[in-house]
Amino acid sequence: MSRTTVATIHLGALRHNLERIRSMAAPAMVMAVVKADAYGHGLERVARALDGAADAFAVAALGDGLRLRAAGHRQRIVVLSGPDQPGDIAEMQRLGLDAAIHHESQLRWLSEATPARGRLRVWLKVDSGMHRLGFAPECAAAVHAQLAAMSGIDPDIGLMTHFAESEVFDGARTREQIERFQQATKGLAGPRSLSNSAAVLGWPDARGDWVRTGGLLYGLSVVEGQAGEDLGFRAAMTLSTRLIAINTIRRGERIGYNGLWQCPEDMPVGVAAVGYGDGYPRSAASGTPVLVGDQRVPLVGRVSMDLITLDLRSAPHAKVGDRVVLWGPELPVEIVAAQSGTISYDLTCGMTRRVLFVED
Ligand code: PLP
Repeated sequence: MSRTTVATIHLGALRHNLERIRSMAAPAMVMAVVKADAYGHGLERVARALDGAADAFAVAALGDGLRLRAAGHRQRIVVLSGPDQPGDIAEMQRLGLDAAIHHESQLRWLSEATPARGRLRVWLKVDSGMHRLGFAPECAAAVHAQLAAMSGIDPDIGLMTHFAESEVFDGARTREQIERFQQATKGLAGPRSLSNSAAVLGWPDARGDWVRTGGLLYGLSVVEGQAGEDLGFRAAMTLSTRLIAINTIRRGERIGYNGLWQCPEDMPVGVAAVGYGDGYPRSAASGTPVLVGDQRVPLVGRVSMDLITLDLRSAPHAKVGDRVVLWGPELPVEIVAAQSGTISYDLTCGMTRRVLFVED
């Protein structure tokens, strides 16, 4: 099968980004967050690139831990939402995965499970204000004691929380979350983990013993108005395709579905072989930049399933077959995300199966 749309994953960028996180977060250890197929970059590929460099991997679900073990990775793997059902506990013990314990139903399953092989390593998740997963702060000490009393649990119990808007530096909500977490875990033994990517950048007093970074690992930023590149990180994905047609369209004619964009003059309109069927956002507005050769040109009209249309007036030398870059080191994905009403993570996670993945 010939496929034109290609996601190139830059393995050197992943390693560079991990080292940059490590130097920013030192002496904290680094959990490389590789959930959602490593934010769309490919779980096994990213884990292979970071093997030996990351202190641990963090995944959303047991199945991802299984994939990493099957690929031969022996280091620590933390399952961020822990066991989803009672049977997961024995499987996590068998695979040597760390479980994040966030709900009393999991405590019940743990107390009923007969310890299989070895002790299960756990992280107690405290809900310091995001109100998604975790025990209320006032319950943390009691849950910690309950876990510590279970024979199948490793006594070195981790303490974890997650921020709702750490990208708002100096924001009151994150300050309050840090304080609630510190208060809830005061006097409890065990390593602390609070920070996601934005917190590594903006909340140095929340480093704790482990940081859990996803976005920055891939060179992605959620900080308003800043791309990963602006912060010294390198984009780990380039999405590219080819120009498959150039047509001269008359002044006043409308382009694409629903004719959202009207030609102000007779002009060349390029057609590139990528669309929402590949994961390019359908919501990308006219004016979203695209690179043709090394020239930035604006997308015009509605994104279709397989195609986008481009205003080529500023690229008079463009020709059919030219490489078109949708995002990558030369065109920050954050710009495309902002034009599409979303964040960069959403775009890299959205690549579909017809995109060809290659590595460099
Ligand atoms: N920790 C938890 C619990 C998460 O859910 C996530 C991602 O959403 C992260 C860490 C990593 O966040 P980021 O990719 O912003 O570093």
